[in-house]
Amino acid sequence: MATKILLCVLFVLSGGNSFAQSGSRSLVRIALGDYRAEMKKIQARSLDVAGVDLDQKKVDLIVDSRELQWLKAEGYSPMVVSASRVAAAPDSRYQNPEKIEAALKQFAAIHPDLAEVKSIGKSLEGRDVWAVRLTKNVKQEHPSRPHVFFNAMHHAREVMTSEIGLDIVETLLNGYGKDPQITHWLDAYVIDVVPMFNVDGNNLVWSQDSMWRKNARGGYGVDINRNYPYAWNSCRGSSGSKYAQDYRGESAASEPETRLMMEYVRSIRPVMSISYHSYSEIVIYPYGCEGQRTETREVVEKIGKELASRLKKDDGKGTYTAGTAPELLYSVDGGDLDWLYAVGQVIPFVIEVNASSQGFQPNYPRWRDRTVEAQREGWRYLLSRMDGASIFGRIKGSDGRVPPQARIRIRAEGGAFSQELQVGPSGHFHVILNPGIYRVQVEATGYSSEPRQVKVGDLRTPFEPVLRKI
Ligand SMILES: [Zn+2]
Repeated sequence: MATKILLCVLFVLSGGNSFAQSGSRSLVRIALGDYRAEMKKIQARSLDVAGVDLDQKKVDLIVDSRELQWLKAEGYSPMVVSASRVAAAPDSRYQNPEKIEAALKQFAAIHPDLAEVKSIGKSLEGRDVWAVRLTKNVKQEHPSRPHVFFNAMHHAREVMTSEIGLDIVETLLNGYGKDPQITHWLDAYVIDVVPMFNVDGNNLVWSQDSMWRKNARGGYGVDINRNYPYAWNSCRGSSGSKYAQDYRGESAASEPETRLMMEYVRSIRPVMSISYHSYSEIVIYPYGCEGQRTETREVVEKIGKELASRLKKDDGKGTYTAGTAPELLYSVDGGDLDWLYAVGQVIPFVIEVNASSQGFQPNYPRWRDRTVEAQREGWRYLLSRMDGASIFGRIKGSDGRVPPQARIRIRAEGGAFSQELQVGPSGHFHVILNPGIYRVQVEATGYSSEPRQVKVGDLRTPFEPVLRKI
């Protein structure tokens, strides 16, 4: 009885505006017995999963009173974590759309040779989504430099993620000319950062609802990270209900933000990427549907596990865990990871930063700097992996032209690994591999070529195929 009264007192009214969810909500924590089976049940009920603690097998949920009753009826004893986290606006030192725009423009003004800020397009409500490009002599075109892409805040309430995006920009710019690794990365690669992707949603976090996750569609919102067209609505990894936190939208790529991101990725053709989310202290790689593994998992999953091993947990005990979404959380369909991998030819990762004890909006003075500093080990590893085992070069024709629509087929000698890639219009490519011996063939209409054997060591290996014009 006492518990019940306490729960009622801690419920928070979310206000009468159109963007708030109906009724009261609270952040509760439950312990799971059979983690995988019970997570499926939670997902089938479309509960709002805030984060997980994999070691303790505990799940944080944001629930209304009806959902709380359901949890109790299912035999759980939900512990209210903190109702204030559901109600209060984030610490005002966290970024908002206006502040992030100003901060990025200021960086570009101080470092005009290294940083360029551009809007990649407009959100549903007409806000600019800002990207910053970092590379030496940034105002010139550099088709031979491979791209690496970092984005943050698909989900509006995950405010720490934009701090990480901003810290990537700041650390790289301040380190150029001082830190030899950073200097090399900015000389050799183009690093693109979108530190606040869901600008409309973030505006709602500040103005309406601190737990807002989705975009600003129609007062209910669409989960941008369930709206990507690859395998959209394919494995119960999203909801068809408008008010569910993982609502996938009316149709695949129905949201302007989703389309913006797809167009941007197609234009930059990144080799690898990280999308920052919070919280759970995990690294996720594709695919999002159960039982599906990437064709190049030997490479993708190895990098994901390395990445996780470099990220220390906030409590200082151990490092992040790596896996697919169904292995670590639940099935996800229409997420950016699967589209980036299957269509964008990117090696993509999601990092869920911070733990349950920090939550979506960690105490700013206590956790902001500690979090962004800890994350540097992760993105620095990804950039250093660009210098590791891989082949790179440019495809040319014997007629001096770049053969259009060229494809590279890579097969491991004596192994199962095989990969096929479409080369971009510039003819440049950079393919991350494990060390080994490969048979590489380039194909293009109107050209012929023989397969070649390429030995890949621990460093990137130049490969310059010339195709005979037929
Ligand atoms: Zn998220």
